[in-house]
Amino acid sequence: MIYFKDGEYLQEEQMNLSMNDRGYVFGDGVYEVIKVYDGVLYTAEEHMERLLESAAKIRLTLPYTLEQLVGIAERLLQENELSVGHIYLQVTRGVAPRVHQFPDHSVSPVLTGYTVENPRPLEQLDKGAAMKSVEDMRWLRCDIKSLNLLGNVLAKQEAVEQGCQEALFVRDGIVREGSASNVFGIKDGILHTHPANNFILNGITRRVVLQLASDLSIPVQEKEFTLAEALAMDEFFFTSTNAEITPVVTIDRQPIGEGIPGPLTRQLQKLFDEQIPALVAA
Ligand code: PLP
Repeated sequence: MIYFKDGEYLQEEQMNLSMNDRGYVFGDGVYEVIKVYDGVLYTAEEHMERLLESAAKIRLTLPYTLEQLVGIAERLLQENELSVGHIYLQVTRGVAPRVHQFPDHSVSPVLTGYTVENPRPLEQLDKGAAMKSVEDMRWLRCDIKSLNLLGNVLAKQEAVEQGCQEALFVRDGIVREGSASNVFGIKDGILHTHPANNFILNGITRRVVLQLASDLSIPVQEKEFTLAEALAMDEFFFTSTNAEITPVVTIDRQPIGEGIPGPLTRQLQKLFDEQIPALVAA
């Protein structure tokens, strides 16, 4: 496996990370996960743009352009001959003695990356998943793709311990997003999802789904809804780079609609597959 670190492509043994890296001691950094289908990057520009935005929101200036970031992802996937999987990229505020305030300007951010081979979750895409609602106790800047994921980690663990595949964050009675995904409900033919504000990460897959809904002339409401409203939806699904459009068949063990993936979810899944250039060409 070839890794990327600060301009170099390295073997694992050559990777040298510091104990004083602010990512390690504070989670002071941001990251991205970019999907690769049949050796081709999917929505890479959108992910790199979000990486630059997340960095700017924590006042970290990345010494790379969007094009350079795409080039790094491209080179990594080629070096590792990645077919289906993802690229992980993270940037931290750099290496400095452990004090909370920013280090001075002589300290450069540390950009690292690697690839992960993993197949599409075809069985789950077909059969659907179970969600468990969890109190959202994260901070108020969930729009930043921060390395700090303790709230997400604890929520996911709680869901998994209950035999569920994903957690459903609820804050002030409002359904926000999954532990690593965005959520959508369909009621009477209308697609509902949380507005893209500070309470959720504006997923790249979320944006693709909103475009597909528009292509299918499905009306969309980007408006808050409650857990009770979620349970009363006809269909429900969560989206992410790796989970794509995953139908949700139960929330807190209660069936959604008929308790099977719904027809509009299926239509969106089909259109999603059709717009992945690498899959269409294969
Ligand atoms: N929300 C959270 C908290 C996430 O961690 C993720 C992705 O991991 C998403 C939403 C979905 O984002 P994307 O579709 O860009 O993968």
